Amino acid sequence: MKKGGFMEMVKTNTDRCVSVLGIDGGVREILATPEREVHVSVPVRMEAGGTRVFKGYRVQHNSSRGPTKGGIRFFPSETASDIRALAAIMTWKCALLDLPLGGAKGGVAVNPKELTETELERLSRSYIRGVYQVIGPDKDVPAPDVYTSPQVMAWMMDEYSRLAGKNQFGVVTGKPLGLWGCPGRFDATSRGGIYTVREAARDLGLGLKGATAAVQGYGNVGANAAILAADLLGMKVIAVSDSSGGIADKKGLDPRAVLDYKNNTGSVVGFPGSTAIENDELLALDVDVLMPAALEGVITGGNADKVRARIVAELANGPTTPEADEILLKKDCLVISDFLCNGGGVTVSQFEMVQDAYMYFWEESEVHKQLDRKITKAYREVAETAREKKLDMRMAAYVIAVGRIVEAMKLRGWI
Ligand code: NAD
Repeated sequence: MKKGGFMEMVKTNTDRCVSVLGIDGGVREILATPEREVHVSVPVRMEAGGTRVFKGYRVQHNSSRGPTKGGIRFFPSETASDIRALAAIMTWKCALLDLPLGGAKGGVAVNPKELTETELERLSRSYIRGVYQVIGPDKDVPAPDVYTSPQVMAWMMDEYSRLAGKNQFGVVTGKPLGLWGCPGRFDATSRGGIYTVREAARDLGLGLKGATAAVQGYGNVGANAAILAADLLGMKVIAVSDSSGGIADKKGLDPRAVLDYKNNTGSVVGFPGSTAIENDELLALDVDVLMPAALEGVITGGNADKVRARIVAELANGPTTPEADEILLKKDCLVISDFLCNGGGVTVSQFEMVQDAYMYFWEESEVHKQLDRKITKAYREVAETAREKKLDMRMAAYVIAVGRIVEAMKLRGWI
């Protein structure tokens, strides 16, 4: 995808939604512009000597419904523009899931794979020192995203607490359980996505036992989605990929064994008994459910006609471009849009915020139950709105989310 393309995608969808809702130009402007954007330099003392300075960002898009919330990426080609797009998606996501939160996102342009563990800790702490003034448990609460982990969240919480002079566990979510993370947070994004696939299949009358899936991206979200697709739905995962390439096995891969293999070797490529495939081939496989779980802009006007899946479950943020959306719609492919499909992560993050505020923790089974209740309700609302207003699923999700934000802004007297 070309530079700035992600923000263009979000703008195109938002503009369409604004037309459907008949909203005036001023409100459209508010929705297109983040409330606050902070650019920081993130200096890190390197173990081999010298200091490197990385570019860091935190964008808070809209706080009309509550404190802002959104993950932090450590990604080599990170840009302010992509973070802006992701912050807006977080606003829609929190509103669609009916959480008392607004949207934000953060990132540092860095390749964490090139850093030592000590440098990674220094980077995490340095970033927090940069954004300290604008985040906080009742202001803006970060979480893990691409190439950040529970351990990174633990360092960030500790740095913020040191600066605040008191423990502030609620300043980030997705923490390790030993530091008051939430049981079930580690696979919440994937679990929520699998619940939405279950609902979509129900609507389509598609049996999922033995149905096939392909998963692009085998990180936190993709690997757990593959495991849960097999465990909860009885699906057969026949292909997966990561940044080094893809693997396929028509008989079905064992998702846990693939994860162990990736943890040991650094990639899924070479998994015993599998055939190597290209990432593009994976998107075109004849499967029932395709799960893009890596990065934005991977299903485009150039390859959407090759997609053969009946359901595309957008576990990643922004994997499908508006041109691809049109093609998929014509092919009768049901796309479960990103801020519905991957809304389970922020939902359980909000459960973590509640638990940290009360210092009282739930059982994991309770987290699963509440997550299922929340995301299934959101799915049903989107499906119903799509049917009633004759919209595709993405636009129906936009209409509900943006409608709630506009209502909050009106009630507050902002518009
Ligand atoms: P991660 O860093 O754990 O995993 C990313 C995976 O994508 C890695 O396996 C990487 O190798 C792979 N990848 C990178 N480039 C690729 C390419 N070109 N082709 C195929 N695979 C590639 O990140 P994650 O937390 O799993 O996030 C994945 C997606 O899910 C992102 O879009 C993120 O914004 C979104 N998301 C994550 C969460 C969460 O809770 N972590 C919540 C909502 C949405």
